Amino acid sequence: MPPRERTDDNVTDPRQRQRRLSNLHARIANPVDAYEHCRVYPCTNGTTADRGEGLNRLYCRKHIEFYRRHGSYVKRSYGAGEIRPYRVKALQWLGAHVDEQSVRLSVAGVQRLYRAAGAPIEAFRLPGKTPAERARAMWAQLRMQKVDPLEVLAVWMAVDMRLRDDPQLDRHDEYRQVQAAKLIHRMAGGTHKRWERGRADGRIEITEVHKHPVSRGQVLRMVGRELSAACVQLAIPDQ
Ligand SMILES: [Zn+2]
Repeated sequence: MPPRERTDDNVTDPRQRQRRLSNLHARIANPVDAYEHCRVYPCTNGTTADRGEGLNRLYCRKHIEFYRRHGSYVKRSYGAGEIRPYRVKALQWLGAHVDEQSVRLSVAGVQRLYRAAGAPIEAFRLPGKTPAERARAMWAQLRMQKVDPLEVLAVWMAVDMRLRDDPQLDRHDEYRQVQAAKLIHRMAGGTHKRWERGRADGRIEITEVHKHPVSRGQVLRMVGRELSAACVQLAIPDQ
């Protein structure tokens, strides 16, 4: 076998090789430099990896949580009041174009999501379910409440219209999808229970329990992507 050339990429000296390896191990064990601080300007928090709290080498815990909730590390969600006028406008447009093929196909897409969703799951039973199960539960909830698919399409259109009016918009698909999913989440609502119990003194005791699933995480991404796929044919009108 011909002798191998000694270059920087091809270290044959065992001592030098050992030095390089231990150097590499040290770097993996103690991330430094670029990984120390959160990427979001001007946040000075340490990344979770740097603080030994997680594996994220780019963002701090606060901004990871922000991203899970809003679909963006920096841009907060639109408020319901901000979106409402766009939903009204979208619903009017849909009502006037309900016979167009693009609208009919999108309605059929939402109906497919409704049908595939299976039985609704009470909010109390959602913890521990997978994001896919939670996404189906959201669609099942809308089906059970007989929410008109046009209302669902109006959500998608409203977010799109709101984004177009926003000089500081976040152009990522993920932000758009999470914003729409948050509105769907709100429409699906929570689980509300009420018990009446007769007491010994003859009075009626009423117990109410309200549980709303938290609006964050993978489930929003899944619902948003499903809605986006259902609406792929939908032409968003110029305002
Ligand atoms: Zn941060």
